Amino acid sequence: MVTTPRADAAAWSAGWWQQARACPSPNCEPRPDPQDISLLVVHAISLPPRVYGGGEVEALFTNRLDWDAHPYFQGIRGLRVSSHFFIDRAGLVVQFVSIHERAWHAGASCWAGRDNCNDYSVGVELEGMDDDCFTAQQYGSLLRLSAGLCAVLPQLRTVLGHEHIAPGRKLDPGPGFDWATYAQGLASVGLQVAPVAFERPQEKPAS
Ligand SMILES: [Zn+2]
Repeated sequence: MVTTPRADAAAWSAGWWQQARACPSPNCEPRPDPQDISLLVVHAISLPPRVYGGGEVEALFTNRLDWDAHPYFQGIRGLRVSSHFFIDRAGLVVQFVSIHERAWHAGASCWAGRDNCNDYSVGVELEGMDDDCFTAQQYGSLLRLSAGLCAVLPQLRTVLGHEHIAPGRKLDPGPGFDWATYAQGLASVGLQVAPVAFERPQEKPAS
């Protein structure tokens, strides 16, 4: 059973979702075209890999990670990245960057002939691994967030994984992400995934 999320434009304040805990990151900048936010990118992340429940992702996205705390961190020392949202295994949502700003989540990327997906996308990181599954709480929060984004971003139509916009370089969220369940949830609020893109029904030709 997929819970039906309810889109609510009033749940936003200056690009910040009121259902998320705000943890502002300095790793952002203005979008080249603030009106062009047409893509939602789903990621998976955990730090160190496969370790869930710590505060390391939040620390990384706010430039507070102790690079000496784990051997894995040596390989990413100095990395400055961010995402608009992070959803932990319990479904709790943290927001780091206003959706009106450009976050640094996609890196070298391309979709539909356009590169630099960070320019025109919203990034959502799910706590996890590209070879692991995700929790029901995460799907529930992702659906609520997706519906909320659609309420305030009229050009948002497509959702893709990082693996789709950076093929060969990125694998996340990976085969453990259940696109079918996600699509079913989106359809319950009138959105569709086909196969990983959703359209607004009111914009379809009348039949
Ligand atoms: Zn990613």
